[in-house]
Amino acid sequence: MSEQALRERLTPEQFAVTQQSGTEPAFSGAYWDTKDAGTYRCIVCETPLFTSETKYDSGSGWPSFWEALDAEKVTLIEDRSHGMRRVEAQCATCGAHLGHVFNDGPRPTGQRFCMNSASLDFVPGSSR
Ligand SMILES: [Zn+2]
Repeated sequence: MSEQALRERLTPEQFAVTQQSGTEPAFSGAYWDTKDAGTYRCIVCETPLFTSETKYDSGSGWPSFWEALDAEKVTLIEDRSHGMRRVEAQCATCGAHLGHVFNDGPRPTGQRFCMNSASLDFVPGSSR
């Protein structure tokens, strides 16, 4: 999809987060406090990425998951920007920036997928 088409389809914030690796302000997004059952899809290509079954309240103000729906659907990349060493999460299908992954999550994985609401589209209903 061309940049022009993406700019027309996405909100300015969705574009900034997914295409320019932006970060929405904490507690500002649509899904940080969402507890409904359902599936979180990539806002750009609609690939299912996360499910409500692995979502938890991290207190961070961003939607947080302890595991991706399918590890192959989320690409993890070392990110050394901003003077930090972090792991960036991208949609493996379209390359959209999703957020970062930290090692302070709950069991069983110990991981925290700290995602931006702007990168996700929540589909209520079955979580699979
Ligand atoms: Zn995608």
